[in-house]
Amino acid sequence: MTTESQGRSLLWFDTHLHVSPDDDFEAMVAAARAAGVGGFLVQGTSLDDCGSTAALGDPARGIYAAAGLHPHVASSFDGLSLFRDLLARPAVVAVGEIGLDYHYNLSPPERQREVFAVFLELASALGKPAVIHCRDAYADCRQLVRDHLRPGIPFIIHSFTGTPDEAGEWLGMGAMLSMNGMVTFNKAVNIREALAVIPVERLLLETDSPYLAPAPYRGRTNCPAFLPLVGQRVAREKGLTAEALAAVTTGNACRLLNVELPAIEPAGMS
Ligand SMILES: [Zn+2]
Repeated sequence: MTTESQGRSLLWFDTHLHVSPDDDFEAMVAAARAAGVGGFLVQGTSLDDCGSTAALGDPARGIYAAAGLHPHVASSFDGLSLFRDLLARPAVVAVGEIGLDYHYNLSPPERQREVFAVFLELASALGKPAVIHCRDAYADCRQLVRDHLRPGIPFIIHSFTGTPDEAGEWLGMGAMLSMNGMVTFNKAVNIREALAVIPVERLLLETDSPYLAPAPYRGRTNCPAFLPLVGQRVAREKGLTAEALAAVTTGNACRLLNVELPAIEPAGMS
């Protein structure tokens, strides 16, 4: 196998990361690419950051953005016009991060539900996939997706931490389930049990950076260059090589987001 084909065969896609204006995004991307990460979906979460994250999108380099309002800041919702404008850009390929978070309830639950429904309907109208955050809100989240997301619109349950039964129900509704660094934590047996019931065709990988750095970096600031650590653990759990898992999950991400990754420089791979 040549260096080039080895490089091409190990190409991860980080489907969920956050970038703040203080980050050196170029350095972050360079380090990630050197680690074999060739696709990035940067999440927008607020009225303040959606514009700047959308501006990072650069499909020629495998960088895409999502635009949406996180449940924590659902109270700040004042209309869809900003989001419609951003989602008209070719690099803004998904509606997210949206959803429900009853763990923190930083916005009132009723407001979270209203705003989540509005964004699910936006995804339906635009025909773009939805990136969903669901914490301690499983039943309501499922109900709102049923009621407000048009059948056939792809959606991701990001940072999936539910039970095998919940995984099964989401899969039955057509979801893609995304795993992050928690899968590497010693005590996260529940996550690995759920992973066991998720077919690889329905799996995505993410860092959720800067949060949830995988072992052995747990507790440190996460970055997309750590995605292979998530992928290697998931591959081991699924009985696959890292190369095979990377190929399947990156293919899943590209299909879901309707994008095609550019070839990445083999020189950057090792
Ligand atoms: Zn997130």
